[in-house]
Amino acid sequence: MTKQSNTVTLPSLQRATNAVEKEFIKHGLYTKRLAETPVYLIPASSWIMAEGLYYSGAVHMPQVNILTLGRVLGLSPKPALRETLRHEFGHAMLEHNPELISPKEWKTVFGGAKGESYEYEIDDDDFITDYAQTDTEEDFCETLAAYFRVKGDIDRYSHFEEIYNKMKLIQELPKRIKKMGIRA
Ligand SMILES: [Zn+2]
Repeated sequence: MTKQSNTVTLPSLQRATNAVEKEFIKHGLYTKRLAETPVYLIPASSWIMAEGLYYSGAVHMPQVNILTLGRVLGLSPKPALRETLRHEFGHAMLEHNPELISPKEWKTVFGGAKGESYEYEIDDDDFITDYAQTDTEEDFCETLAAYFRVKGDIDRYSHFEEIYNKMKLIQELPKRIKKMGIRA
């Protein structure tokens, strides 16, 4: 019987990281800099409200967080480690290779500069999740995570023009990564 853990453990994080790296490779989105990005398990701390964080060039995954706590309370399903890692690697990708998406393209696809907050009057249908409505960079990371979740099948979003356009941009990135010679 597998012992169910209510915290993020090192083996579970290692497994999830390997799985997500494979997804990035499979979709042509794995870059040299991503391959060098460390993933740290961090102890219970004030970051308890975050499922994951990206700062100082590394992904940080809190051992105890809002998802694992929710699980203890029966509020949330199994902590979606992979989902969180996909998102955090998105931040890493943007930080390491900002040239992948030009300022002009950010404006066209996301409606603002990279990291720019969204204004009040936005349409839910234009965003993949509530959290994506935070700012344009979170939107990119949430959309990227969803792109992996649906295994690159972006047509299922064809009725949501804005989301579709964001997915379409992500679908373009492998070509650029290859051309720029930054593929891992
Ligand atoms: Zn984020």
